[in-house]
Amino acid sequence: MSRFFSEKYKKLTPYTPGEQPRGQQYIKLNTNESPFPPSAEAQRLAAAESARLALYSDPECRDLVAAASEILGVSPDEILFTNGSDEILNFAFMAFCDKDHPAVFPDITYGFYSVFAELNRVPYTRIPLNPDFTIRVEDYVGVGKTVFLANPNAPTGIALPLSDIENIVRSNPDHVVVIDEAYVDFGAQSAVGLTRKYENLLVTQTFSKSRSLAGARLGFGIGCPSLIRDLNTLKYSTNPYNVNRMTMAAGIGALTDREYFLKNCRATERTRAWTTEALKTLGFTVLDSKANFVFAAHSKISGKLLYQKLKGSGILVRHFDSERLTDFNRITIGNMEQMQTLINTIKIILGDLS
Ligand code: PMP
Repeated sequence: MSRFFSEKYKKLTPYTPGEQPRGQQYIKLNTNESPFPPSAEAQRLAAAESARLALYSDPECRDLVAAASEILGVSPDEILFTNGSDEILNFAFMAFCDKDHPAVFPDITYGFYSVFAELNRVPYTRIPLNPDFTIRVEDYVGVGKTVFLANPNAPTGIALPLSDIENIVRSNPDHVVVIDEAYVDFGAQSAVGLTRKYENLLVTQTFSKSRSLAGARLGFGIGCPSLIRDLNTLKYSTNPYNVNRMTMAAGIGALTDREYFLKNCRATERTRAWTTEALKTLGFTVLDSKANFVFAAHSKISGKLLYQKLKGSGILVRHFDSERLTDFNRITIGNMEQMQTLINTIKIILGDLS
């Protein structure tokens, strides 16, 4: 830390992203990226747009907003695009939390929520999940705070039904409820359809997982026009050009190539079912995931040792060094061939133990 670093941030512990290895080739199952390339249309449009990079991007993202509003069935003033969904989540902490609107989220969830709360000096509470890692819905009903819930949750993959989400939104009319649907396309129910009914609901989604554009950094939020205006105030106060030209073009391509998107989502769901069964056959406890990853633990080997041994065999998974999660690893669902290699490698690792 330099002697110039602001007092405000001296105690900030930043988010730790998953490893992004260079050089050695790994089967990369640690950051929930898609195993499939971006759609050909996304690649084509982004490449063509590169010739226009001398000009700033459209701060209103009009072409992308037009494509999205048609495909997602919302009007242009109900949607805001950002640099990954991380950015809109940060804006939501900035916009909708203060001392009278403290934040609340589960103790086990996306690690960035507490970082954003600390960064923006927002008071926050973490509510423990049930012992089986499910969210206790009653804890959020009428809680009277700004709620942040990932649905499906991460790193568990467990999803809440829409009726529970609606219950939480309806019972907190004076606070915004943010539903982070980064993983919703792999089999969970989206709350987007409720945004016209509840002015306190903001739903965020990303192109990083189901639309194979993690490296492009594109996310968005859907909510009533007044919520979107608030978030825009923060966007225009930080970086009006937060979505670059090539990303915007890629986003349009990914949205319009709906068939490819749906095909990849269904393939991931099938591979998830296969992987879950294979892991259970090997004696793993696997949580019921509706995301593009599974969270799995084995009684004969610690989560950390399995992570290390897999890494030694060229497979990266994500291990979290916290007490309640230490037995587990979060394993991204890759393509079928990658998952077969994973299972074969785990068989060898478990065989070597006995
Ligand atoms: N929400 C959750 C629950 C996530 O796991 C992630 C990905 N790490 C994000 C949001 C942010 O993703 P992105 O910024 O790539 O859209």
